[in-house]
Order: sequence, then structure tokens, then C-alpha cells
Amino acid sequence: MSSGSSPRVLVTGAGGFIGHHLVTSLKQRGHWVRGVDKRPPEYTAMNADEFEVRDLRRFDECLLATRGIDHVYALAADMGGMGFISANHGTILRNNSLINIHTIEAARMNGVSRYLFSSSACVYPDHLQNDANVTPLRESDAYPANPQDAYGWEKLIAERVCLEYRAEFGLETRIVRFHNIYGPYGTYEGGREKVPAALCRKVAEAEPGGDVEIWGDGEQTRSFCYVDDCVEGIYRLMQSDHREPLNLGSEDMVTVNELAGMIVELSGKEGIALRHVDGPQGVRGRNSDNRQLREVLGWEPSVTLREGLEPTYRWIEKQVAARRPPSPAPAPRRIDDQVAARARFGPVIRPNGSASGSAVILKTDTEP
Ligand code: NAD
Repeated sequence: MSSGSSPRVLVTGAGGFIGHHLVTSLKQRGHWVRGVDKRPPEYTAMNADEFEVRDLRRFDECLLATRGIDHVYALAADMGGMGFISANHGTILRNNSLINIHTIEAARMNGVSRYLFSSSACVYPDHLQNDANVTPLRESDAYPANPQDAYGWEKLIAERVCLEYRAEFGLETRIVRFHNIYGPYGTYEGGREKVPAALCRKVAEAEPGGDVEIWGDGEQTRSFCYVDDCVEGIYRLMQSDHREPLNLGSEDMVTVNELAGMIVELSGKEGIALRHVDGPQGVRGRNSDNRQLREVLGWEPSVTLREGLEPTYRWIEKQVAARRPPSPAPAPRRIDDQVAARARFGPVIRPNGSASGSAVILKTDTEP
């Protein structure tokens, strides 16, 4: 199907955080790229050769999205930080199962040769992650299965679908398990933001001498991987012959309090206090074991947390400053989550002129 030696590539979820960065990197490598999402990128211009707004819960939309494509990077998902994941189990299970099953079947029917599925560290069993000083998680730890949330179950099922499609239909599938990816151009407000972006926003909003809210005691641990390393790892995995699930994350674990401390330091603001409040914290501890990643790809993420937080914080600081009215006008009231979600995910009915050089198809968003 490919014209010449370079495969035609589809990135689903191209309007989202990792998808947008991946499209940029694939374009830099010289690929022809189609991006598909239920909404255009929120913070940047579209950078794909074609960008189509489609609801991938629908099979007919998946068939159109995968037409004439050689390689699919399947990143589309209804997801967010712990606040969203812990409160929307049924919605997540339904939406993402539909997206995953329909996208891979459409890819198979359209003769796609390679298919990469973006899974998550959320597949790992709850009981292996109830200590802040957690043993790093190896790929084989996923079974016997016991993920904490529906989000993890849905990812595990889609992993199995990939493995079975390869065995039964010969579709070359790759499965990557991301561990907390962060960087600029990701959601930082509205209820779906993840912890690094949420903390950057809270610190950017805080006045010197003010405080920043942390969910729980802040001693829960995680490792964070910068988005540039993430897209490099995804690409390398797609080119490899490794068919089993593979971790992609950092092995440098920090507490959420330490993460917040680094961001406060970067901000240069004096006297910011951390205020601990009740809130969903997810598992107590999580870290990536990268032994297999190193073995398979001969590579691993190298951007340190401090290095990656610098551009992330600066970008979010700029967004916060841009929406802050000049003093002495009163501070804007926060839009509630429902309104914000409707604003972001509601019907798109007219073309957006920001897509210079790209073909854009925008459609109305309908329930499947
Ligand atoms: P994101 O929310 O920024 O991007 C996901 C995109 O999917 C969004 O733009 C969204 O509009 C789109 N989408 C949702 N429903 C859709 C539908 N019905 N049809 C078409 N598009 C739809 O998230 P992200 O951080 O870029 O994550 C990308 C992938 O990586 C997801 O599959 C996610 O589950 C996985 N992942 C991310 C992380 C992380 O730390 N960011 C960690 C583990 C796994």
C-alpha cells in the first residue's frame, strides 16, 4: 500500500498531548501523516498532512480513518488524570473499548501492516503498588491481572486483542505501556490534567507566600517521562520486532511532594507552601522497570525530570498569564468541569482556519 519506501502513517488521538508531539516527530522524519481525533489540537496548529475530525467509537469512522494507511499509532482514548479516571469507570470502559476494537478491526480490513497500541502502567495489579517504596514494575507483573481502575482493565483487554490479531490475522502489533508522560502542550486545567501539569498550573497561579493544594499526603511516588523521550521510544518500538507489551517510562521515582518542590523552585516564587487535602491519589507507589526496554530497543529515556519540567512549567506559566486579566480587574471564576468538558468535547461544526497546508475534515460529534 505504501507509495515508495516511506509508509503512510495514521496517528489517532492526534489532537491530544502525545499524539500531537508524535505527529510533529513523524513529520520531521519525513513521513506522510494523517491525524484523526474527535477534536483539533487545542493549543497548537495542526501539523499533519491531513487532519480529520472523527469519532473513533464508530466503526464506519474507523474504516475511513484507516483507509490507504500502512502504519497506525493508536493513541485515541477517553482519559485524564486520577480525578477523571477514578470517577468515570463505565464511560471509560465503554468509550475506549469501542475505540480500540473498532480501530484495530478497521485497520485489519484496510490492509494496515503495523499497528501500535498505547497501553498504560495502569494495567499493573493494585496489590503490587501499595507501598510508596514500590519494587519497579516488570512487564510480566501484569498477570495475574488486578488493575485498580476500569481504565487499566480496558487497556489490558486491548493488549490481548493486539496479541490475538497478530496470532490469528498476521497484523504486526506493538504494545507500549506508558508511565506518566509529561511536557508542554498537554491538558493543564478542566479536570482531565495529570499531576505534573496540574501542579505546574497551581504553582503558576499561586501568589508568592501562597499555597498549592496536593491530593493526599504527597508521599505517593511516581516516575515521570518527558514527551520527547516518549515519542522517540514509540517510534523505535514500532520499527522493532518486539511483539509483547513494553514499558516506556523513567526509572527515577519521586514523591509528589518532591515533584511539587521542583516546580516551586523553577517558578522562583518565594514562600509557597504545600497544602494537603483529601483527593484521589491512585496507587501508593509506581515505578518502571526498564530492563526489557534497554534490551529490546538498546535505548532508554534520558531527559531528567528537572530538564523536562523547565519547558513544561514555562509553557503552562505562559498559558496562565495569558488568561489572567490585567489587574486590578477581578480574577476570572473557574468554569466548572462539566462546562469545560462540553466546551472541549462538544460538537465541532465549522472548519478551523489554523491548519495551514493541511487538509481538514470536521464533522459533528454523534454518539455511536
Ligand atoms: P490525550 O487525552 O491528550 O489524547 C487522547 C486523544 O484522544 C484526545 O485528543 C481525545 O480527543 C482523543 N479521543 C478521545 N475519544 C475519542 C474518540 N471517540 N474519537 C477520536 N478521538 C478521541 O491523552 P495523551 O496523554 O496524549 O494519551 C495518549 C494515549 O496514551 C492514550 O491512549 C492514553 O490512554 C495513553 N497513556 C497516556 C499516558 C500519559 O501519561 N499521558 C499514560 C499512559 C497511557
